[in-house]
Amino acid sequence: MTIREYIPLKDFSHFKIGGPARFFIDYGSFDELSFAISFSKEVSLPFFILGGGTNILFPDEGLKAVVIRDISTTLSHKKINDDIFVRVSAGVSFATLLDYCATHSLSGLEWAGGLPGSVGGGVRGNAGAFHGECKDTVYEVVSVSSLDPKEKIIRDNFACSFSYRDSIYKKKPDEIITEVIFRLRPGNQEEMKKAIQEKIDYRITRQPLEYPNIGSIFKNIPWEKVPSTHQQNPFFLQKKKNDPFPVLPTAVLFDHAGFKGRAEGDAMISTKHPSFIINAGAATSREVRELIAAVKSDSLQRFDISLEEEVIVVN
Ligand SMILES: Cc1cc2nc3c(=O)[nH]c(=O)nc-3n(C[C@H](O)[C@H](O)[C@H](O)COP(=O)(O)OP(=O)(O)OC[C@H]3O[C@@H](n4cnc5c(N)ncnc54)[C@H](O)[C@@H]3O)c2cc1C
Repeated sequence: MTIREYIPLKDFSHFKIGGPARFFIDYGSFDELSFAISFSKEVSLPFFILGGGTNILFPDEGLKAVVIRDISTTLSHKKINDDIFVRVSAGVSFATLLDYCATHSLSGLEWAGGLPGSVGGGVRGNAGAFHGECKDTVYEVVSVSSLDPKEKIIRDNFACSFSYRDSIYKKKPDEIITEVIFRLRPGNQEEMKKAIQEKIDYRITRQPLEYPNIGSIFKNIPWEKVPSTHQQNPFFLQKKKNDPFPVLPTAVLFDHAGFKGRAEGDAMISTKHPSFIINAGAATSREVRELIAAVKSDSLQRFDISLEEEVIVVN
């Protein structure tokens, strides 16, 4: 394990934006994680947990922090009666997990085809797509608190308090997810591979994957929060969807509002999928934040709709 200094965070963000991290530590075991936590105390800097960097906007000035990243690769499964329990370390990517599941015919996570990022980041934000969410199959989550790194904390699904793009871990910044156990079931390998590939193909066609981005910037809008005058809008009514509950997709609102292609410098609302902001060249964190603020303010003024960020904006 090495402690690196002044590492450009843009190299670790899918947005390709962000200044240097004061310290950067990759850890591969429980002991190394404990060491990284002690080190951050020693240098009196906060730690920041990095997963796949697919949901984070880092500041241009960088982070005066110890950025820590899980590089362990534990991935195993065991069958107990009709259930199959998959144990995976938090730093493993969803792509690797899905490959493993398809190879061993373990069904239940096909919805995550093409979902970028790590298992830890996904579980923290209860990532979801195509009518599936992490909460559907998470059995237990193991974490470590920086306050007492020697002690492992194990929560069952209920104790994780999952809800739309949310979990208890968002309220516990001192906790680092180290392992996740999913409860899956036997599947048909060919059908699973097909289902996963369909999701990947859908994303390639609909999402601006050719540009650096960090996914949907805002959460979709719960239908009950759409003012009743706009609920009658035929365009909104037609595009209203039920995933995971009735929502007006932010992309539909932005399309209707004419936000496609709106830009601040090189930060631009995607014309392909308007709930994404793309980095069209050399966008800065400041430009992205200005664009976020501008569309939030316009959405409030024009539609009386208050948007909530899905991405993590680090200041
Ligand atoms: C092209 C694209 C498409 C996307 N599509 C979807 C989608 O369909 N559905 C969806 O829900 N999301 C989607 N996202 C967003 C993103 O992929 C997910 O939110 C993903 O789960 C984030 O995981 P990550 O490892 O990249 O987290 P990061 O971006 O690295 O981190 C996100 C947050 O999680 C914290 N974190 C990371 N690891 C841990 C850990 N081990 N313990 C505690 N906290 C941790 C970080 O500190 C940070 O606050 C998309 C993103 C992109 C770029």
